[in-house]
Amino acid sequence: MSTLFKELAELCEKLEATTKRITMVNLISSFLRKLEPDEIGPAVRLIIGRIFPAWSQETLEISWRTIIKIIKNLTNASSKDISEAFSKTGDPGDMAKILMEKRKTIKQVTLLQSPLTILDVYKCFLSIANAKGPGSKKKKEGLLYGLLSRASPLEVKYIIKDILGEMRHGVSEGLMEEAIAKTSGASLEQIKRAHMLLGDLGDVAHIALTRGAQQIREVKIRLFHPIKPMLAQPVENVEEALKEHGGKTAFEYKLDGARVQIHLKNGKVAIFSRRLTNVTHSLPDVVKLILDEIKANEAILEGEVIAVGEEGKPLPFQHLMRRFHRVKDIEKMVKEIPVQLYLFDVLYLNEKMMIDEPYIKRWEHLEEISGNIRLTPRIITSDAKEAQKFFEKSKKEGHEGLVAKKLDSNYTPGIRGKKWLKIKGILDTLDLVIVAADWGYGRRHEWLSDYYLAAKDEKTGKFMVIGKTFKGLTDKEFKEMTKRLLELKITERGGTVYVKPEIVVEVAFDEIQQSPKYESGFALRFARITRIREDKGPDEADTIERVREIYEKQFRSKAKINN
Ligand code: ATP
Repeated sequence: MSTLFKELAELCEKLEATTKRITMVNLISSFLRKLEPDEIGPAVRLIIGRIFPAWSQETLEISWRTIIKIIKNLTNASSKDISEAFSKTGDPGDMAKILMEKRKTIKQVTLLQSPLTILDVYKCFLSIANAKGPGSKKKKEGLLYGLLSRASPLEVKYIIKDILGEMRHGVSEGLMEEAIAKTSGASLEQIKRAHMLLGDLGDVAHIALTRGAQQIREVKIRLFHPIKPMLAQPVENVEEALKEHGGKTAFEYKLDGARVQIHLKNGKVAIFSRRLTNVTHSLPDVVKLILDEIKANEAILEGEVIAVGEEGKPLPFQHLMRRFHRVKDIEKMVKEIPVQLYLFDVLYLNEKMMIDEPYIKRWEHLEEISGNIRLTPRIITSDAKEAQKFFEKSKKEGHEGLVAKKLDSNYTPGIRGKKWLKIKGILDTLDLVIVAADWGYGRRHEWLSDYYLAAKDEKTGKFMVIGKTFKGLTDKEFKEMTKRLLELKITERGGTVYVKPEIVVEVAFDEIQQSPKYESGFALRFARITRIREDKGPDEADTIERVREIYEKQFRSKAKINN
């Protein structure tokens, strides 16, 4: 028997109503147990609000404008009703539910149709994503209209949340992993590892629940399905890195470019960005280099691509992003913005997974197969002075600093642990999400130029404002940003445009203060935007926990100075 989408929406309501982790795990677990095998993957994806894994390159491509248009059409709501409903709830899904409940007439067709099942909703999302090419906008709109017109207000709430990928019921991927482990009998460790390798909790749940723990243990990396990159934790200086890594470590240049994951199999190459987007088409020169130089039939390699100017000096990151965004005239771009590839890791080599090998061994393999491709400059040392010199050299050559890598460490995809430590040597910056913007005044009156910056509260999934800034962008960037923000607009009130959290910016600041000004309890002093993080999505932005950590660190160092 097909499970109704209504049951999934009701589960999400129950999850939203509790903050107890164990209750949430139990609720999800009993829900998963009831499902038919073909419903497991779709249900897991719909509960966590990730319909497509990042590597699939699929997106719904439904704009917020289209959603609002359909909601207006279905409910006869005015712009004022929308604005009121949004300010009451602050959430697009809740807003849509309120408007649906208020609508006066329910269309006859709605009453006659059979209730939505989980598979109906999921398959409709697949059809929306599959609508491509000329006329696709209309087709997508028609499909979504059809879906929403069959849905109850509660179902509409969760369909909208799924489209936006923001569930706000507090079910993180970690919690879903626990629920899958509990339901299947596999250990949490096994589930986490399978998730790291497959990059899709829907697939993990399906394997674990239908084929058992044994199959989960045997999951392997799939070529051309990128895996989440291993990340680094910040430390203040080389001494701290040496201490953390037991007195001796590898220091590599932290190159100021874009991270790439390169998949190679028998003459075929695909390159993925840090966000796991396929960027192969914008890097034909890198593809050629890999094909010419790498001495292996199958490999997954990692490295950094940097844009270089005359004399091979690194150019600012923005230049590289121009290249990544380009769809046409790639050959022209290849000449205009030359790039260099530096490799620093190998995760898979000739049918063998390398991620469990120690760093030092992986580097040896990399040396063996990399031909004339540059490896990232590095030293291995236990001497803080030598490391400090290397740090200064990296900075002088225009790079960001160093990454320290623990010699015996394995590669842990998607984890920001202590095995990799980054040393930038400047005050911390935060990657924050723009959630609203004010219209400027004077010279800037046509631009959205004062931005509300938010960090995600991982417990609730809500983006919490911690500061505002109008500093850091050029006139051209303000113009472009205004255009992008208006496309993401949810509503506008009193000169403030509220937007879907999507754009990530790197923000420098002088201090984090505790302040009642924002609901988050924190406020940035003298915030300014230092770059637009085109390579990061809202999920990869910094969290409130990180803000608290920096606040506390700052507090401790102040106490040190005062004592
Ligand atoms: P940041 O904002 O500092 O660039 P991030 O959040 O993108 O950091 P981190 O894991 O914190 O990612 O820092 C590592 C990043 O630094 C990588 O994503 C990669 O793009 C870049 N990088 C540059 N050189 C190296 C290197 N030698 N090894 C690993 N990563 C490197």
